[in-house]
Amino acid sequence: MAITIEEIQGFKGKYPKQLWYLFFSEMWERFCFYGMRGMLTYFMVYHLMMDSKQANLQYGATQAFVYAFTFIGGLFADKILGFRKSLFWGGLLMILGSVLLAINPKEFFFLGISFNIIGTGFFKPNISSMVGMLYKEGDVRRDAGFLLFYSGINLGAFLGGYVVAVGKGTLFGSFVPQEYTWNFAFGLAAVAMTISLLTFLFTRKKLATIGLSPLEINDQGNSKKWIEYSVYIGTFAIIPLIMIMVSNTDYTNYFMYAIGPFSLLYLFYEMTKNTVAENKKLIAALFFILFSVVFWAIFEQAGGSLSLFAAENLSDKLLWFSADPNAVNNSVNSFFVIVFAPIIGILFIALSKRKLEPNSMVKFGLGFLLLGIAFYLFYTIRLTASQEGLGSLNIFAVAYLVVTFAELFLSPIGLSLMTKLSPYRLQGLMMGMWFLASAYGQYVAGLFGASITPEDTDSKMQKMITYTEGYKDFALYAIISGIILIAIAPLIKKLMQEVK
Ligand code: GLN
Repeated sequence: MAITIEEIQGFKGKYPKQLWYLFFSEMWERFCFYGMRGMLTYFMVYHLMMDSKQANLQYGATQAFVYAFTFIGGLFADKILGFRKSLFWGGLLMILGSVLLAINPKEFFFLGISFNIIGTGFFKPNISSMVGMLYKEGDVRRDAGFLLFYSGINLGAFLGGYVVAVGKGTLFGSFVPQEYTWNFAFGLAAVAMTISLLTFLFTRKKLATIGLSPLEINDQGNSKKWIEYSVYIGTFAIIPLIMIMVSNTDYTNYFMYAIGPFSLLYLFYEMTKNTVAENKKLIAALFFILFSVVFWAIFEQAGGSLSLFAAENLSDKLLWFSADPNAVNNSVNSFFVIVFAPIIGILFIALSKRKLEPNSMVKFGLGFLLLGIAFYLFYTIRLTASQEGLGSLNIFAVAYLVVTFAELFLSPIGLSLMTKLSPYRLQGLMMGMWFLASAYGQYVAGLFGASITPEDTDSKMQKMITYTEGYKDFALYAIISGIILIAIAPLIKKLMQEVK
C-alpha cells in the first residue's frame, strides 16, 4: 500500500523517515555546489588569466545570480512544475553544467556556470519547501527537522570543499594526470549531483503527494503538459542571457536592482488573492527576510574579507598544533554546524516538551546578538597581535564557533519559518524570496568587505587595525539589528498569530 501524507506527518519519534531522503539528496547537491564555488575564483585567476579583482567581482556576480534564481525556481514550482519536477529539472541542469565543465572547463566555463545557476534556482528552494511538508501545521518538531537538514547541507559543503584540492592536484594527484586535474574535479561535482538526483529518484515515491505539481493535483497533468514543456524549453532559451549577464558584472548590478523590487511587487499582487490572516503572516515573513539580508551581509565576510584577514594577519598556532589559518576559515564553520545543528534541534524538542522553547523571534534576535559577539571577538584579535601583526588563531576559531551558533539560530529557523508562514500555493515563492535575501546579503557583503580592505602597500599591523576596526563596526550593526528585532517582536508576534 502506498504511503499517505497523513502517515508521513503522523510520524513517531524525532524525525520523519523521509527527512533522511531529502537530507542525502541535498547533501550531494551541496557537495556539487560548494565544490564548484570553491573552484571558481582560483580557476578564473590561474586558468582563465583574469586579474584577481575581476575574478572576485565575477565570483560575487555568480553568487548573487545563483541565489537570485531561487526566486524564479520557487515561482515556477508553485505555478507549474511542483517541487518534485522542479527539483528533478534543476538537478539535471546542474549535472549538465558540471559535465560541460568537466569536458572543457576553459572553453565552456560561462556556459557551464550558467547551467549551474539556473539548475540551483530550480533545485535549492524547492527541496527546502519539501522538508516543511513532512510536518503537520503546529508540529513542534519542525525546527529540529530543518536543523538536521542543515547539518546535511554542511556535510555536503564540507566534503565539497576538498574538490578544489583535486583541481589543484594536491589531492588524488598521484593518479590523475596533471593536465586533467580540473576536468576530473568538475567531473566529481557532476558525479555528486548524479548521486543526489538518483537518491531523489529512488525515494520520491515514498513522499506520498508531497511536491506534486499544481497541474497534477488539479488533474490537468496531461492536458496541460505543453505548459510544463514550455518551461523546459524556456530554460534553455534563457541560458545565453544568463551567460551574458554573468560575464559582465555591470549587468549583474542591473539585474540585482530589478529582481528585488520585482519580487516584492509580485508578492503584493499575489497577496490581493489572500485572506487578511494569510497576509499578516506573509508580512511577518517579509520582516524576517529583510533582517536576514543584514545577517548574510555580515556573515558572508567569511568568503571575502575574513579569508584575506586569515591569510595576512593570523598566526598558525591552533591549540597545541599548527594549522593553516585559511583552512580554518574555510572549514570550521561547516564542521561546527554538522556537530551542533542536530544537538540544538534535539534541545529544542526537549525544551518544547517543557514549554520552554524560545519562539522564532527570540531565536532570530539571539542569532543577531551572537553574530555581534562573534564579530567583536574578531575585533579583539588585534589585542593579541605580535609585532609582525599576526593575531591569535585560537580566538579566530572561537569566534567561528559563535558565528556558527548565530547561523543555527537564524538560517534553518528561517527556512522553517517560510514553510510555516506561507499558504500552500505560495510556499515556493516565499522560499525563493528567503534565498533571494541571501543573494542581496552576498551582494552587500562584497561592498562591506571592500570598504574595510586595506591597501596592498600597508604594513601588516596597519592591515590588522583596518580589518578589525571594520569587524567592530559589523559587530555593532549586528547588535543593533538584534535589539530592533527584539523590540518589534510583539508586533511580529501579532502578525504571526498562532505560528510560534
Ligand atoms: N549555507 C546554507 C546553504 O548553503 C545557507 C545559504 C544561504 O541561505 N545563504 O544552504
